[in-house]
Amino acid sequence: MTAGALVATVIGIASTDAAECPRKDALGTSRILGVDAKTYPRVGLKSFPQTLPLADREVVLTFDDGPNPPTTSKVLAALAQECVRATFFLIGLHASQHPDMVKRIAREGHTIGHHTFSHPFMARIPFDKARSEIDRGIAADEMALHGVSTTTPSTPFFRFPYFEGTQAQLDLLQSRGIAVFGSDLWASDWNEMTPEQELKLVTERLAAAGKGIILFHDPKARTAAIMPAFLRYLRENGFRVVHVVAAGAPQKNADAR
Ligand SMILES: [Zn+2]
Repeated sequence: MTAGALVATVIGIASTDAAECPRKDALGTSRILGVDAKTYPRVGLKSFPQTLPLADREVVLTFDDGPNPPTTSKVLAALAQECVRATFFLIGLHASQHPDMVKRIAREGHTIGHHTFSHPFMARIPFDKARSEIDRGIAADEMALHGVSTTTPSTPFFRFPYFEGTQAQLDLLQSRGIAVFGSDLWASDWNEMTPEQELKLVTERLAAAGKGIILFHDPKARTAAIMPAFLRYLRENGFRVVHVVAAGAPQKNADAR
């Protein structure tokens, strides 16, 4: 066996181990969907005409604005308990403040997307400043993840704060091969409400939509509080979780260890 084959074998074994769930009745991640910006430059019906090719009862879980260790750690624990993989769109400033939490998100197998450096209203600032927000955000996330300052994202996924971007900004991201994520439904967890109200709202919206990319915010305590019950709802109602990764990427964050 060549050294290369040995490495491939070892990675293969590690990947199998990571995919196994210790709890046999857990929700689990049903499949992995590779997304590339050429095929899916912009997804999410709340903002765009196209979304991801999800079957009925398939959902993609996304969490914006973290990391925020007290609440993000609760969300991660709930996802781990059900062996579910999600995508976190990080604010660069927060990533630079909590690099260990960024590494933990990646180590636990989740996808890391980008959400600017300081979460401005992108359509209300000059183009150069908006481009700088995109680049500084990516650089801060990559520095936290890998200790490398680069504006080329490991996972080329981006979401606009407030879903607000100009055509020029959309074109810029497309030219750089970065897929822009909107969402198909959301929990409205930025509004004041009790956890019980949020759980009722998001499960009703999901029941009506039947599938889709769901937006939560992991810094919100009410969202962290409902995550175990929300994942239980998915399991008991026949929903399946799809994990989105960069097309062609290894289906495991081995490089984040
Ligand atoms: Zn946001």
